[in-house]
Amino acid sequence: MSRIRLLSEEVASQVAAGEVVERPAAVVKELVENSIDARSTRIEVLTRRGGISLIRVTDNGVGMDRDDALLCLERHATSKIRSGEDLAAIHTLGFRGEALPSIASVSRFRLSTREHGALAGTEVLVAGGKMETVRDGGDAPGTQIEVRSLFYNLPARRKFLRTEATEASHVEHQLHLLALGHPAISFVHLQDDRIAFQLAPAASLLERIRDLSGPALAAELLEIPESATAGCEGIRVTGYIGRVGVSRSTRQQQVCFLNGRAVENITISQGLREGYHTALMKGQHPVTFLFIEMDPAAVDVNVHPAKREVRFRSPSEIRQAVILAVRAALESDRTRWSAEFRPGPAPAPLPARGESPEMQHAQTPLPLPEPARPTLAIPQPPATGPAGSLYAAPQQPAPGRTDAPDSPQSPGTPWAPSPAHQEPLEQPPAPGPVPETFRFLGVLGKLYVLMENASGLVLVDQHAAHERILFEEMQRRMEQQGVPSQRLLLPLTLQLGPKDADWVERNMELLERAGIALEGFGAGTFKIDSLPIFIKAEDPAQLLHDIIDDLRETTLQGARLRLGHDLIAKTVCRHAVKANDTLREPELTKLVEDLLACELPYCCPHGRPTMIQLSYGELERKFGRRA
Ligand code: ADP
Ligand code: MG
Repeated sequence: MSRIRLLSEEVASQVAAGEVVERPAAVVKELVENSIDARSTRIEVLTRRGGISLIRVTDNGVGMDRDDALLCLERHATSKIRSGEDLAAIHTLGFRGEALPSIASVSRFRLSTREHGALAGTEVLVAGGKMETVRDGGDAPGTQIEVRSLFYNLPARRKFLRTEATEASHVEHQLHLLALGHPAISFVHLQDDRIAFQLAPAASLLERIRDLSGPALAAELLEIPESATAGCEGIRVTGYIGRVGVSRSTRQQQVCFLNGRAVENITISQGLREGYHTALMKGQHPVTFLFIEMDPAAVDVNVHPAKREVRFRSPSEIRQAVILAVRAALESDRTRWSAEFRPGPAPAPLPARGESPEMQHAQTPLPLPEPARPTLAIPQPPATGPAGSLYAAPQQPAPGRTDAPDSPQSPGTPWAPSPAHQEPLEQPPAPGPVPETFRFLGVLGKLYVLMENASGLVLVDQHAAHERILFEEMQRRMEQQGVPSQRLLLPLTLQLGPKDADWVERNMELLERAGIALEGFGAGTFKIDSLPIFIKAEDPAQLLHDIIDDLRETTLQGARLRLGHDLIAKTVCRHAVKANDTLREPELTKLVEDLLACELPYCCPHGRPTMIQLSYGELERKFGRRA
């Protein structure tokens, strides 16, 4: 006896609904996407009890005639594609012709629609997939769809819904994405008769972001320069990303659109992570509003019924484009950053710049006293500077001293990061303001360097600044000729476990470029011949163990990240400088100058800030001199 049966339309729709309509937010997404595809300029969404009891989407789009209003409830009925070839180049958000029949099969459904210019519209009522009424209706041109009692006929599914508050937050997130993806469309969201948001058509994406997320976040964003992805064939990346230091512990605000569709995609996430690279703290996620546009034929959106996932034909090109976009945006922030920390003594009056409230305020200065001489104790290190201090400057230039990196014997500066800035090193540690630069005030807790600039107080994390400078220098050198290394007087042998040994074998060349020369003797035994010149390790073997541990951990965590120069540089740097190395004024001045000359001066290679500005405005507020 044959056992195979064709499922009824009703059951088949319910099965399909399992994938498309997993929760109220999915219904909202499908309905609003239809409204967008119907070229609406205004979309209103009303939800009750997190969308479980009611979702109503009203648009002013093209509407449907009677035939279409009936047909749209059939499975695989769509106006958006006609042939298999169309699948290869989808320009609309929908195309599967599945959403409406699926939703109608698991709810009490009402469609009311009218074409512009039509005398009458159509109203269709469906309950649990059964069409109950078709009549004249549709007051305003456009379409209104009501979905009540979601999953009322599928108690098992209904049980899987979370609390109303959770479902409501999913709906809200979904609407945010849709509104961000289409700034020109006006959106209204009513939640249990309260206005959750009301968005006028925005002239720009930034305006929409500001309307949705507030001016504070908008002010922390950097625009991706037009030119960033100019060299990427067929891929354009635009939008906004958070400046260094702006990140979140979840991906909630990592928003990416691909051809107008919000997507989550590992290739894009990797590109973002790699683009930020050292500018992102461990465990943090960037804030992005990224728009990728590319040939629809080069991406498959038909991977998942809800179309959240996409598959790229060549992921590496996408990743590269995202990296370029992020880097270009971050680097574009240098000018602003340097301006914020702009050198210059003396408090206000400042030149009229009117950039921030603080600055505007500073134009009408409070009667601040003349800056006093530094009263904080400036630590006086031994004349030759402590061992291992990167910036230790000799009192007198040593005779025959050279700053060439390949002369390991040169005292003092074992490795001067930026030869262009040698002068301050030679300068005697004269008291008083350093001309044309920050005025040095002192050192706090052996770590924070206090400086005065035109806007107020600048705090520099000496350690973070060191690391950034060293990292960029090391990266450059590794790319060019490799890091200068110093031969050890007594080569050390190192015994490694099989996994570490294997890792070292495979990365020997990279390590050598980083200044660590090793020779393998088999069975996990290695001989260390030399170490990077700036590392003054008391126990080189232990140091190497630490470095290998770090690198292995990093590569395991970011399993798909390339093990590149930058990663090695970052790790080696960590072992190169210590926070409490005592530096003196000229060295500190040079430190700040070198930092400002870096590509990404804002943060250390681990994403922590290098400098903090405490403006006069903030100080005045703290001291109650202003509201
Ligand atoms: P898809 O969007 O994949 O085509 P749907 O089931 O979501 O499938 O919608 C079926 C069809 O109904 C659409 O192709 C469209 O022609 C029509 N439609 C749905 N919603 C609207 C709307 N808000 N305005 C105008 N037409 C709509
Ligand atoms: Mg659709």
